This record gives sequence, structure tokens and C-alpha cells, in this order.
Amino acid sequence: MQLLKDRIIQDGKVLSDDVLKVDTFLNHQVDPVLMKAIGEEFARRFENDGITKIVTIESSGIAPSVMAGLTLGVPVIFARKRKSLTLTDHLYTASVHSYTKQETNEISVSKDFVTKEDTVLVIDDFLANGQAALGLIDIVSQADAKLAGVGIVIEKGFQPGGAFIREKGIRVESLANLASLENGEVTFIEEEPSK
Ligand code: 5GP
Repeated sequence: MQLLKDRIIQDGKVLSDDVLKVDTFLNHQVDPVLMKAIGEEFARRFENDGITKIVTIESSGIAPSVMAGLTLGVPVIFARKRKSLTLTDHLYTASVHSYTKQETNEISVSKDFVTKEDTVLVIDDFLANGQAALGLIDIVSQADAKLAGVGIVIEKGFQPGGAFIREKGIRVESLANLASLENGEVTFIEEEPSK
């Protein structure tokens, strides 16, 4: 998605060889105009997949997911990050380790909001080692819902998450896929022509 790539080049800050900061439009300040375009692009890619729900994780997955949900006309559920294992009644839970934050969160979604009748699109802001996406996929599977695929705003293609999830036969659509952040420079993996 050219608009997104241009914005990453313009505003992204390379913090290290493997961390990109995009606080000006996605992770702290949110650019609604760009988010709307991102949501429409996710919706276009999954428009024929019978999506009934979008499942994401707080907090940075919410903005792109809501925009995709608006275009597809479906509800958006964000998994909450839990610190405690108590009060897990009526919840699907999964354990997600964050390498960027060096912490493990128990994420949870109410059983009321994802059911076996649903076809789910999982969306997140970044895909790195895949832990967040795998946690969400685990929750979709606990609910016996159908998984249509995973939509990612920025994939770091040089980290293993994307390959690992695709090897499971799961469709992953990234709107920008980074080849490298080495030497403070952002380079992209060329997108395959989208359907
Ligand atoms: P994963 O679970 O795939 O290893 O990492 C995904 C999560 O880590 C994302 O939800 C995002 O919050 C965070 N993350 C991973 N890499 C980056 C990065 O380079 N920049 C930012 N801003 N967040 C990242």
C-alpha cells in the first residue's frame, strides 16, 4: 500500500535494527485519514470472505480495525491485556509474550462476542515474532469460529512471525512489509499483486 509506505518513509523512526517507531500516525498519535485508507484496504482484500467480526488487541490494533469494521459493516472486538489470571470466567484467554516490551500478557475476549457462527478477520498493527497474532488466532480457534485470515498494518518480514503463520496455511495480508531496518534505513519487500 503505497500511501502507507510513503508515510513510513516520511515519519518512521528506526530505533534499532529491529524496531520501527511510528508514533506520529499509528502507535500514539493516530492519523484518521490514513487509518480510513488502511481500513478500506483491509476491507477490499477480505471483501469476499464473509467476515462477520474483526478481532484485534488493545491498544494499537483498535484504530485500523475500527476503520476496517466500518467499511465491512461488522463489529470489532479488541482482546484485553490481562495481568491477572483470576476472574477468567466466560472468557477465552491466551498468553502473549511481547519482545518489544519484554512482558507476557494474558489476553482475553468474552465468549459473548466470538462464536462458532463467526468468520473472523484478525488485525494487528505490527507482525514481528507472531506472538500477538498467534494469541488472537488461538482465541478464534477456542471459539470454534472460522478464521478468514490475518491483516497486518506493518509486517517486519525479516522476523519469523509471518512465515510461521503462513506455514500453518493461514492467509496473512500485510499492507507494508519491511525487508530491513539496518543502518537506520527502511527497505520494503515488494508486495505481491493483490487480488
Ligand atoms: P509479535 O507478537 O509479532 O512479536 O509483535 C507484535 C506486537 O509487538 C505488535 O502488536 C506491536 O505492538 C509490537 N511491535 C513489534 N515490533 C514492533 C516495532 O518494530 N514497532 C512497534 N511500534 N511495535 C512493534
